[in-house]
Amino acid sequence: MATERTLSIIKPDATARNLTGKINAKFEEAGLRIAAQKRIHLTKAQAGEFYKVHAERPFYDELCTFMASGPVVVQVLEGEGAIAKNRDVMGATNPADAAPGTIRAEFAESVGENSVHGSDAPETAAEEIAYFFAGIEVVG
Ligand code: ADP
Ligand code: MG
Repeated sequence: MATERTLSIIKPDATARNLTGKINAKFEEAGLRIAAQKRIHLTKAQAGEFYKVHAERPFYDELCTFMASGPVVVQVLEGEGAIAKNRDVMGATNPADAAPGTIRAEFAESVGENSVHGSDAPETAAEEIAYFFAGIEVVG
């Protein structure tokens, strides 16, 4: 398994509850390295651009409003098989379906306000990292 990078976002429901450190501990305990990280407040337009693959979904407007409702922490996670490993640590989209011990099982409030985002494939990871970070900001 090769070393990969994936884009992670700690969402506004989690930053509001001061959970950044607890969520980062889950990543680090799983062997993921935080190779870049910054706290930003997205506009609704920026959230909409990031989530444009979901533009036709019924929850798109709600999702964009939520993602712009408070600060987020955007991160690059690095490690062996980081894309799948991060998805494992996150747990299922709906916290009701998330395995015990996962971030979403422990912290998510609902299927929409589910504490974290993680890229789902190498192509989307590369695109999503480039949306938030210049190459010089990702240090491994
Ligand atoms: P994931 O974040 O697990 O990759 P998706 O890519 O399917 O999940 O959806 C993106 C985000 O949209 C989810 O993390 C969640 O915040 C929101 N979302 C997904 N499904 C719903 C839904 N049925 N109702 C409200 N929000 C949703
Ligand atoms: Mg997704």
